[in-house]
Amino acid sequence: MDNHQTDVAVVGGGMVGAAVALGLAREGFQVTLVEQQPPGAFDASQPPDVRISAISSASVGFLRSLDIWRRVQAMRSHPYTRLETWEWQQAHVVFDASELQLPELGYMVENNVLQLALWQALEAHPRVRCLCPATLRAMTRGPDHRHQLQFADGQTLDAQLVIGADGAHSRIRQWAGIGIHAWDYNQSCMLISVQCDSSPGEATWQEFSPRGPRAFLPLFDNWASLAWYDAPARIRQLQSMPMAQLQREIAQTFPARLGKVTPVACGGFPLVRRHALRYVQDGIALVGDAAHTIHPLAGQGVNLGYRDAEALIDVLATARGYGERWYSAPVLKRYQHRRQPDNFLMQSGMDLFYAGFSNSLTPVKVLRNLGLMAAQRAGVLKRQALRYALGL
Ligand SMILES: Cc1cc2nc3c(=O)[nH]c(=O)nc-3n(C[C@H](O)[C@H](O)[C@H](O)COP(=O)(O)OP(=O)(O)OC[C@H]3O[C@@H](n4cnc5c(N)ncnc54)[C@H](O)[C@@H]3O)c2cc1C
Repeated sequence: MDNHQTDVAVVGGGMVGAAVALGLAREGFQVTLVEQQPPGAFDASQPPDVRISAISSASVGFLRSLDIWRRVQAMRSHPYTRLETWEWQQAHVVFDASELQLPELGYMVENNVLQLALWQALEAHPRVRCLCPATLRAMTRGPDHRHQLQFADGQTLDAQLVIGADGAHSRIRQWAGIGIHAWDYNQSCMLISVQCDSSPGEATWQEFSPRGPRAFLPLFDNWASLAWYDAPARIRQLQSMPMAQLQREIAQTFPARLGKVTPVACGGFPLVRRHALRYVQDGIALVGDAAHTIHPLAGQGVNLGYRDAEALIDVLATARGYGERWYSAPVLKRYQHRRQPDNFLMQSGMDLFYAGFSNSLTPVKVLRNLGLMAAQRAGVLKRQALRYALGL
């Protein structure tokens, strides 16, 4: 039976875990990345990954600091410069990159492309070891206070710090005995890859309806992604349709400005809000979806994960620089203090939108559309809201 030692074990090599692992290795930590399945290979002739993320300009800055962004751009990404949202036509809110003197608000990136770009850098890094595919069986705490990960093939890994980046159903969170607050939105989201008749441009838009938003995300060439939020039963029904029937449903449901699109692939995602009661304890830290999941209507999930990643890397590197026990609870709590209130605020903001726009009572409808009209005219406040959403 093999026993390995590492400074940091990052469990989960998704978009967030892979970034944390790379950032810590660049700061001089010995990192072992544990992932159950590797990202799929990239093929430029293939249609886009169904899972798309709107990456804010702050996240692009973080990925640049890891020297990852050029790898993403060498594969595929698409800038968006304008964001429009409305329910009634006369109550449009428009955010434009020029309002903040930015070249773009962010980029649409396929999840697989982003993960792969990070993995390419991880695999070339001398301080990173990737255990993949790996099947974890348990996590225990040894007499030296280190955590030990036990694998199905009998191997073990001892780590000063275990970072749970293993997504919404995190085993690390469960094994550490960290509870969550959670509720089901009773809504699902279907992402649909479509081909447009012409270039999709650089504007992303979202129309609110009481059943849920309908959103358009422009991609490379003539590709785009549609996000259709609706009751879980309706999304299941849409998912089981042949593409020709789905195309008719899209034409009936999405606003006319979409034009003619041809759906090629789709995937459904149930929506649940979760927030870990704490992000850290001695030798353990949670990041990304392992710590929090959020309604995706404003595309914030992975962007919050990158704010976590940046904060955790900074706290650990600074503490080690001062000779502190960087894996101890008092140090890790600095990370929790920096991130938990911000994640809570963003979750609550999204919930307010979700609750406000899921109601079909006329007075509520009038109020929320008045709110949108006011937002459009709010000048400085509107720019502040945009800055916050972009993480600037
Ligand atoms: C419909 C939808 C649309 C979204 N759109 C956006 C958007 O536009 N912008 C945005 O910022 N966010 C968006 N999000 C949210 C975003 O997808 C998530 O926040 C993001 O994927 C979280 O990344 P993560 O790395 O924390 O977790 P995950 O992506 O879940 O990755 C977890 C990783 O851990 C691995 N893993 C799990 N268990 C184990 C185990 N036991 N052992 C080893 N490995 C394990 C998994 O294989 C996976 O690779 C959206 C979400 C949904 C559902």
